Amino acid sequence: MKSKNIGFNSKLIHGGEFNDALGSATVPIYQTSTFKFDSAEHGAACFAGESDGYIYTRIGNPTIHALEMLLAELENGFGGIACSSGMGAVNTVYGAMLAQGDHIVSSAAVYGPSRVVLETYYKKFGVEASFVNTADINEVRKAIRPETKLLYIETPSNPTIEITDLKACCDLAHEHGIPVAVDNTFCSPYLQRPFEFGADIVLHSLTKFINGHADIVGGVVIAKDEVLYKKLRSVMVTLGFNMDPHQAYLVIRGVKTLSIRIDRAQESAMKVAQYLENHPKVEWVRFPGLASHPQHELAKTQMDGFGSMISFELKGGLEAGRVLMNSVQMAILAVSLGGVETLIQHPASMTHSKVSADGKEKAGITDGLVRYSVGIEDVVDLIADLEQALAKV
Ligand SMILES: *Cc1c(COP(=O)(O)O)cnc(C)c1O
Repeated sequence: MKSKNIGFNSKLIHGGEFNDALGSATVPIYQTSTFKFDSAEHGAACFAGESDGYIYTRIGNPTIHALEMLLAELENGFGGIACSSGMGAVNTVYGAMLAQGDHIVSSAAVYGPSRVVLETYYKKFGVEASFVNTADINEVRKAIRPETKLLYIETPSNPTIEITDLKACCDLAHEHGIPVAVDNTFCSPYLQRPFEFGADIVLHSLTKFINGHADIVGGVVIAKDEVLYKKLRSVMVTLGFNMDPHQAYLVIRGVKTLSIRIDRAQESAMKVAQYLENHPKVEWVRFPGLASHPQHELAKTQMDGFGSMISFELKGGLEAGRVLMNSVQMAILAVSLGGVETLIQHPASMTHSKVSADGKEKAGITDGLVRYSVGIEDVVDLIADLEQALAKV
């Protein structure tokens, strides 16, 4: 909530401003469900919001609060709301912004469950959703209705790695009085800060780049102002999407190396993408750093780096991709992304398997598309691994 005038890397280490009576240099784990009041009057004041004392861990906890303040500082937002998972964060946003009769416009190629939960669960409560290619501003304009209450964007998109113009989308939505939420998981605040382009809400799956070590699941929602912050926070608290203090501790530890992990991973990703693009068995490669990427120029202006997520398709389609995934030895065949280890997966049968065939087609998720999340191993080893696996295709 307090933005210090220091650089991003310094914020990673010193942001969030935690102080306790014992002078702990790192944020301790307050592994407690409840907090002692000084007196009956103090307890009453905490509940009335007249004292900022802690009450109960679902409502707030010092370890979790330290993480929330740090992440809000990194995104230049007003305040953070830590959640049990990225989906907890997604549902905190949907729950706060959508009601019966409302309509949401979302990127077609979003994280699979972020789409499926709208098409199943929220539909039961009378919420309608349109999924469009938000990389095409005209599609967004056409999808807006009088009852549209949220524009929800993921950029780069998952798993198609298309770039949505954040400023253009925020300007358009705001002309219609519609708030904009951006899932910034694929970039992290190191590479992209959506509030700078006009976003109202930013969310993350902390499971990915921010924690970065594939050892916890977590999420966060960051609001641009106090009104939105309070509205979102009450949904997290009452629906019970809260984080655990131990989870928060691990994310605080993991995020300290965010920029050096991403620097390494994106440098390697560029080399892997170039290698794949020149390989005779590869049909196409989608990586924002390649000049062949349709929105390469937009990526350069909107992002501070090209990230480390690559999508590609082999000439032999699904069957060739299957052989590749079964043949890699260093890359781990697993869903998720943004960790120190390189991961490979097949969205059509894995992360996006519950998205309808029509939905997949409109989102550009072909059967042969392979998603590759570059870790921080030696890039020569990653390329050698792909080389031996591609030889078997
Ligand atoms: C993983 C992911 C989510 C969901 O996060 P969980 O921590 O798995 O619940 C949401 N959005 C994006 C872009 C993701 O990659």
